Amino acid sequence: MPISALDQMLADVSRQVRDPRVLAAMRKVPRHRFVPIDQRPSAYEDHALPIGNDQTISQPTIVGLMTEAAHLTGEERVLEIGTGSGYQAAVLSHLAREVVTVELVDELRERAAALLTDLGYQNVTVLAADHDLGAPSLGPYDVILVTAAAPAIPPPLIEQLVIGGRIIIPVGTRWSQQLIVATRHAESIEEESLGGCRFVPLLGPHGFKD
Ligand code: SAH
Repeated sequence: MPISALDQMLADVSRQVRDPRVLAAMRKVPRHRFVPIDQRPSAYEDHALPIGNDQTISQPTIVGLMTEAAHLTGEERVLEIGTGSGYQAAVLSHLAREVVTVELVDELRERAAALLTDLGYQNVTVLAADHDLGAPSLGPYDVILVTAAAPAIPPPLIEQLVIGGRIIIPVGTRWSQQLIVATRHAESIEEESLGGCRFVPLLGPHGFKD
């Protein structure tokens, strides 16, 4: 019997992502619904795809690595910066109590919100980005995922984390980043790198200046 595109995607992801709960969550999300129709034949391939407005849906392996690094138990409130297609938020929603996700581009936000509603996701709130990065009024959060690259960890996001909370964010230059996991302690921030990655840039005051 031929292996399905979804099985092949999970086989690719499981080369780097070991947590069975993360793989099970990714199995539940119909990734083809989150990409434009002309991209559907490639929806389950292990790379990023264009979703319009110069943005991309992240590579499945990267979605898996970021989700695994969040160490979710089902009790957490999670903030995502960069809703994009809504795919990462959908994966998170299977593993967390509540997901708040913020998107700068109205067209993407509206499409993702409608799709997540259509697919029956009830613990995801999609918000428009305003002048504050993130969604401080709904915080603090146990975990923050930033799905766009930044030159440094934006201080306002550290402020939106509980003590002991974790932020997962690509940090580096516009062209290449390290996927950083940082834990907020009472008096310090502990950082580790999960390795190299390449994301579209975070826009706004905490993004790249050039
Ligand atoms: N997580 C997405 C991929 C996101 S691509 C998915 O699963 O499909 C990065 C997204 O971040 C883009 O949609 C971009 O518009 C958005 N973005 C960039 N800067 C932002 C900011 N300051 N606040 C909110 N969203 C931002």
